[in-house]
Amino acid sequence: MKLAILAYGNNTLKVDCDTVESNSDDLSKLIDNMWETMEHAYGCGLAAPQIGETKQLFVVDSIVMYENADEDERKANFVEGDTGMRETFINARIIGKSDETWDEIEGCLSIPDIFKRVTRPWSITIEYLDRDFQPHTKTFHGTTARIIQHEYDHTRGVLFIDRLSSLTRKLIGTKLNKIMNGKVFTDYKMKQ
Ligand SMILES: [Zn+2]
Repeated sequence: MKLAILAYGNNTLKVDCDTVESNSDDLSKLIDNMWETMEHAYGCGLAAPQIGETKQLFVVDSIVMYENADEDERKANFVEGDTGMRETFINARIIGKSDETWDEIEGCLSIPDIFKRVTRPWSITIEYLDRDFQPHTKTFHGTTARIIQHEYDHTRGVLFIDRLSSLTRKLIGTKLNKIMNGKVFTDYKMKQ
């Protein structure tokens, strides 16, 4: 089932989310719905607070980014052997970040039509449970690490625009107001 995506301005997007205590049929259904919602909106990631659930849960698909990238972008944004991945992250905790950082343009399904460069660490190490509640500790790089960091931020109540300079934020103020007031067109369902 496709779910409505909360628009910028909704207070749920500012919540530091709760850990998921246990696996259940309801959780499994929610995860299925998040994948369906993300794919329908042509996203590469979606976090639970974006559909109104204040849980430390997000889904990431960097395969779609790899497939849509040209050869130069693949060389620049993916390490050798990395062709992207699809994964569900529960109770994730970033336990390591590289000193090396890079800039790339980001967008967000909750903040349509705004695309800005964000500086983030090139690689991260993260502990998480997958959708079967199996624990993992993995290191990701480049685009995959960037999407994970963007979604992880959502579960801590942080949006990518919070990471922009105050000047850039000022420049997008009018657009943000329009999104808050529902004056934005998307081909997926949004909720103010
Ligand atoms: Zn987002």
